[in-house]
Amino acid sequence: MRIDYLRVSVTDRCNLRCIYCNPLGDCGLIQRDEILTFEEIHRIVGLFAECGISKARLTGGEPLVRKNIVALVEKLAAIAGIRKLALTTNGVLLEPVAAELKAAGLSRVNVSVDSAERGNYQRITGFDFLEKVIRGIYKAIEVGLTPVRINTVVLRGINEQDVAALAQLSVEMPIAVRFIEYCPTNNSTKPGTFFVPNSQVRRSIESRFGPLAATVVPNANGPAVYFRIKGAAGAIGFISGRTTVFCHLCNRLRLTSDGKVRPCLYSAHHYDVKELVRGGADDEAVRDLLEKIISEKSNYTKLNSPAVEFSMRNVGG
Ligand code: SAM
Repeated sequence: MRIDYLRVSVTDRCNLRCIYCNPLGDCGLIQRDEILTFEEIHRIVGLFAECGISKARLTGGEPLVRKNIVALVEKLAAIAGIRKLALTTNGVLLEPVAAELKAAGLSRVNVSVDSAERGNYQRITGFDFLEKVIRGIYKAIEVGLTPVRINTVVLRGINEQDVAALAQLSVEMPIAVRFIEYCPTNNSTKPGTFFVPNSQVRRSIESRFGPLAATVVPNANGPAVYFRIKGAAGAIGFISGRTTVFCHLCNRLRLTSDGKVRPCLYSAHHYDVKELVRGGADDEAVRDLLEKIISEKSNYTKLNSPAVEFSMRNVGG
């Protein structure tokens, strides 16, 4: 597998308190001076591009809470070798900045929405922001940050009843609505009993809309498997990280907001790139480490990684 995709967590701060991701809010945040600066992120992504990374995605925490994020997008989009630069966001701050992000060189956005019902959205995220998010999605489509994808984590007894309404969005809009299996990450988030397998999510969609037909969506190179509701403008995707193994297809590395590169979401193994960069290493030395990370990536997989606690907020999902 060619390793050509880097997810970059630009902050561990978030403006939502999702019960499965960030229930304790600002508790345990990384010290600000430990977070990579824009210059450091630009340098590391540039050197990664020289090692074959051609797609990057900004994530977090919530990437849009990072001050001057548009300036970072502009710097990263200008790196020779980065052909696609995307962003994963909760969408709360998207509407006012979507056009600027597009102009700065962002290709597209994924927006996390766990319920299309205002009250339940607030129960899950802690805030009454659903309308803002929906406006952000429309704006992203309008300015061409497309194809837009929606990410939904389904939790037992929390938003199972919202699946049909979210799937309905794919009927009306040219977007892919993707259901992500919940991955319990640490003691503060919901326990494993809240997990709902995607086979069940699919059954509930099919019982409402009829059989799903397999489909292909543009720029889909990740673990999602796509289907279409008959006559729909968009698609339904399933990302089944708990019930399937897609390590053999995994082309991604993750740069955490405090400068560690993780070769596998499920493994605690990491390489401290920030230590090298802040220690004054020249480009050749940093590039040597990045090449080593790429060459060793396949040693770390879901199957050979003992379960460890981690924070999705820092690693970036
Ligand atoms: N704030 C942004 C957002 O809401 O999309 C980006 C960061 S968030 C950590 C990235 C993705 O990880 C989101 O789609 C979120 O739903 C997903 N995520 C967070 N915690 C998760 C968990 N425990 N299991 C599965 N997905 C999770």
